[in-house]
Amino acid sequence: MSDSFDVIVIGGGPAGYPAAIRAAQNKLSVACIDAWTNRDGSTAFGGTCLNAGCIPSKALLESTELYHRAQHEFAAHGMKLERISLDVAQMQKRKSAIVKGMTQGILSLFKAAGVTPLTGHGRLLPGRKVEFTGADGAKRTLQAKHVVLASGSEPMPLRGVDFDGRQIVDSWGALEFEAVPKRLLVIGAGVIGLELGSVWRRLGAETVVLEALEQFLPMADAAVSKEALRHFKKLGLDIRLGAKVSAAKVEKDGVDVSYTDAKGSQSLAFDRVIVAIGRRPYTKDLLAEGTGVALDARGFIEVDDHCRSGAENVWAVGDCVRGPMLAHKGKEEGVAVADHIAGLYAHVNYKAIPSVIYTAPEIAWVGLTEEQAKAGGRNIKVGSFPFAASGRAKAMEAGAGFCKIVADAGSDEILGIHIVGPMAGELVAEAVLAMEYSASCEDLQRTIHAHPTLSEAVHEAALAADRRAIDIPNR
Ligand code: FAD
Ligand code: NAD
Repeated sequence: MSDSFDVIVIGGGPAGYPAAIRAAQNKLSVACIDAWTNRDGSTAFGGTCLNAGCIPSKALLESTELYHRAQHEFAAHGMKLERISLDVAQMQKRKSAIVKGMTQGILSLFKAAGVTPLTGHGRLLPGRKVEFTGADGAKRTLQAKHVVLASGSEPMPLRGVDFDGRQIVDSWGALEFEAVPKRLLVIGAGVIGLELGSVWRRLGAETVVLEALEQFLPMADAAVSKEALRHFKKLGLDIRLGAKVSAAKVEKDGVDVSYTDAKGSQSLAFDRVIVAIGRRPYTKDLLAEGTGVALDARGFIEVDDHCRSGAENVWAVGDCVRGPMLAHKGKEEGVAVADHIAGLYAHVNYKAIPSVIYTAPEIAWVGLTEEQAKAGGRNIKVGSFPFAASGRAKAMEAGAGFCKIVADAGSDEILGIHIVGPMAGELVAEAVLAMEYSASCEDLQRTIHAHPTLSEAVHEAALAADRRAIDIPNR
């Protein structure tokens, strides 16, 4: 095998593997190095997303939502279940099979595209050389015209709450529980806390979520956060805001956790603790001395708007660079970089990156919240449509939540769309497309939406912004 490539990508997660595939599509010779090792010692491409993030969490969210609906919804449809039993081992087996299929799929995609996969560790040396250490420990020095760094991120640890891999775990550990914990603590009411808290709560765990901030989901539109909080409480998630955890001690019969809130010092005992307080960029052993690649104060690889690092022809994409830590953001950056390298036009529209939280109801948005638009001095109009008025949502027994549109009152430009309700993550795609094409509210109003569909909520919200909704009174 050649030791020289047009492009070497370090990291085979959702930022790195699309960069490698697109570079190969652009007729460049490409190698993609990845060091992911599973707990059983096996290796796999796909990074955090496929192995320990997006995919396994969504598999468990789907299974547990079905379990919850079977218990709480079927009666409304006229179906009586005498007894439903839970097989966590089967649920986990299904999840693992999905993960395995998806990660092996990357190797097939590489084969079809002509990317050389290299399992092992990559370290950038000066002059776009890469030191590759294989699984057997053997080292080789590779040479590239371009290097793409896509080393990802890792869970943020919490001082005083040390991971032990059994009772105090990170998100990966929380995806692997073999039984439903009786008393579960989630530290952090962010995306991971809400998704994984929902998974285990739905299966019966008494779940407390301690969040340091006073505000719930501050990054979401305030109306969405308020509606979502109501539903999480209904599910039985005991979310406590303004709660700062100071210590956790593993004892014989559980974990003793101390925290402070407005009432003073508190302590509680749990069987399992999930720490989900954010992630930080991962660049351990990635950069040798003298590469010219710089890290910022928070440890992210410094890049410009096109993901160029400070070193010539060295690029960085995904969670290891600024911006939201989302798989689809990394994918777009990876693909754009591979196109830049080939001399093609490429652009990532950072203003139109959707966010989705895969809870029930689902939460999704793109663009500015009402609060952000107002704070930015925009003169806005707002339209909202409740799923309770959607025939399809009612038929699905999913009438909770709403779709809200924020638009400029003068130019009619759509500034943001915020959805809490059924299939919000799918519905937001229309909003992203509209914003990508700088659509006006009127453009959405004039677009025909099939009936009865959930997407009519987006249509009606756009109409409501001009007090022209048909299926709700315009107030
Ligand atoms: P990673 O996926 O972290 O991949 C980096 C890869 O590089 C890894 O395989 C790593 O082993 C390898 N690597 C690092 N350094 C080296 C080196 N020196 N040599 C060789 N290999 C190296 N995002 C979403 O958009 N939607 C979701 O639903 C979602 N759900 C999530 C659920 C959970 C529980 C978690 C933890 C995250 C979730 N995310 C989700 C976030 C998403 O997983 C990340 O944004 C995404 O994986 C980042 O992609 P990446 O390629 O930048 O990094
Ligand atoms: P997050 O930033 O979404 O949430 C972390 C939460 O922990 C915040 O609310 C923060 O205020 C709180 N917190 C911080 N320190 C705390 C402390 N000491 N005590 C109590 N609370 C504390 O981070 P996350 O949930 O860990 O997720 C990490 C990343 O993974 C995110 O950037 C997210 O985008 C990504 N992710 C995305 C998805 C998705 O797209 N559906 C799902 C999971 C993860």
